Amino acid sequence: MNKNYCPICGRQHKTKKFTFNSKLKLISSNFKKINNKKNYYVCKNFEFIYAKQTAKRRKIINDIYKDFTFKNNLIKPSREIIIANEIKKKFRKNMSVLEIGPGNGELINCLSKFKNIINIDAYDINKNKFFTLNKVKKFKNLFINLNKIYHKYDLVIMNQVFFHLDKLDKTMNKISELLDDNGHLFLITPNPFKHKVIYYVYDIFSISSKKNIISYLNRYNLNLKNDLSYLLKNQISLIFKKNFSNRVRGEKFISKYKKTQISFASEISKLRHKKITINGMGLKGNFIFNNYKKNVFQIKDEFRKINKVFKKNFKKKSKLFELKTY
Ligand SMILES: [Zn+2]
Repeated sequence: MNKNYCPICGRQHKTKKFTFNSKLKLISSNFKKINNKKNYYVCKNFEFIYAKQTAKRRKIINDIYKDFTFKNNLIKPSREIIIANEIKKKFRKNMSVLEIGPGNGELINCLSKFKNIINIDAYDINKNKFFTLNKVKKFKNLFINLNKIYHKYDLVIMNQVFFHLDKLDKTMNKISELLDDNGHLFLITPNPFKHKVIYYVYDIFSISSKKNIISYLNRYNLNLKNDLSYLLKNQISLIFKKNFSNRVRGEKFISKYKKTQISFASEISKLRHKKITINGMGLKGNFIFNNYKKNVFQIKDEFRKINKVFKKNFKKKSKLFELKTY
């Protein structure tokens, strides 16, 4: 029996593969085609699936993040404006804030305009972020090592980073430590049952359901205070409070998720017989474009100002199928 330390629960248990494999090509979260495979494993204790971490995977991910540019503020109001307004509504006392993975710094920018936000720090693996964030008045420190942070915070924000963290157990332990006794964690992460393409995103490390995330975070003394998942389409949005008593039981996620992915793959495979127009060139649009290039007649996206026609593959008479990916 092959036993390993599980990066999700931190315990030693048998490693079991998540066996659904599709022939579809993977994509990075900055829309690049990835020519490598990824194997998923199961943490049976918390019903999470997670990617096998190898030196090769780490290298590919470093390459992805090295020149990562964010254009996630195309649709107004952006996700970050909605999150910032919710923070304004929910928290009135003076606060020091830490954002994990600040992206293009839009959320930090929004928060710095609120009177009760005293200072904002960030943690990112990419040092270059400092140059953009440095211009924000209340922004103080950019940390590239969580273990070198000795402050405590009233609010930690994780927007689109939870599923990317490859040492989830260790990281969540540390994040819980960084929170003040009655501190809050605001977590925003894609809902895998709605945003199905995340399964094919190379730099995603772990996947599970909302209920299991809530139950998992209980072990770090973080308990659900508000479920704000109505706020953002296809996203799980949760506020946790440290040392707050509200325990939630996890659920069977893995078998249900396998069914979801089998039907998603079969739905997508039907595109092979179609002449498609992809409307919306976000993650899903790019994923489909990468996999079915020969079937794509047109790609368009009004926010990204994309409109391209690929005529040469097609005879005049074939019927167009419009695939909306918003
Ligand atoms: Zn485990």
